Amino acid sequence: MSGDKGVALPLPPLREVIARHGLSANRALGQNFLFDLNLTGRIARAAAPLDKGSVIEIGPGPGGLTRALLDHGAREVIVVERDRRFQPVLAEISAAYPGRLQIIEGDALKVDASKLGTAPRRIVANLPYNVATPLLMAWLEAGTAFTSLTLMFQKEVADRLLARPRTKDYGRLTIATQWRAEVKRLFDVPPRAFTPPPKVTSTVVQLVPRSEPLFPADAAVLEKVTAAAFGQRRKMLRQSLRQVLPQAEEVLLAAGIAPTARGEELSIEQFCTLARAFKARRVAGARSIGPL
Ligand code: SAM
Repeated sequence: MSGDKGVALPLPPLREVIARHGLSANRALGQNFLFDLNLTGRIARAAAPLDKGSVIEIGPGPGGLTRALLDHGAREVIVVERDRRFQPVLAEISAAYPGRLQIIEGDALKVDASKLGTAPRRIVANLPYNVATPLLMAWLEAGTAFTSLTLMFQKEVADRLLARPRTKDYGRLTIATQWRAEVKRLFDVPPRAFTPPPKVTSTVVQLVPRSEPLFPADAAVLEKVTAAAFGQRRKMLRQSLRQVLPQAEEVLLAAGIAPTARGEELSIEQFCTLARAFKARRVAGARSIGPL
């Protein structure tokens, strides 16, 4: 060991580490590991610059991506891992990169990542697919607490994050995401890149939170309106939105939106217009439809 802070000791190949610790993938925890250094390096480079603030990685598992982040100059990496079997492996990585890796054992859904480390905070993760969407929603609600989010999703989820109106993928998740962040598709990753291989293709996406949401709207009302519009996506808005506000048709007409349109035809701007109109109606004392 050179003794220089931050200079890595050579670590054995990941497959060897897994075998030595007798680790096997737990499907219930969405464990599909990346061992390919080209791929983990590519994700780390996409998330750069990493030399300021903190990189927060959710679900490091045996630490392939963690190592790549450290090798690509991350000043500090904070990992949150639920499966305690990986603690010894992560501790070895921490020893190899002195003072640069902080390990948190726990459920990422219960951790407020916006309070971890120091700004600029960048989240980088090959996400456990079963909790990817709720995690993303919580991070987007934190606004500009994060400088960027470089995340691997199932391709079909990535397609929904990136969708345009009038497509089958456009929906609630699209609007909630694009309203708060700029989203960019980086690259696809085939199942064979993982151990064990998942059934589906994955996609790495980068999100940059907006300083202000795209158009003004109350987040809870917008969510309620999009949930109703896409919950019955084959129905016309005058019908699907009636459950949110009985006078939906009237409000749609006043907002210049055809009551016969379907949710997938509306832009994010139009959904925000509707959310404001619905909220104004409710505040003005129209028959309440319960808490929005
Ligand atoms: N980052 C590693 C890689 O790329 O090889 C592992 C990625 S694997 C798809 C997802 C990881 O997230 C697993 O290590 C799993 O144990 C962990 N995980 C699953 N649910 C979690 C949760 N709620 N909080 C924190 N970690 C979680």
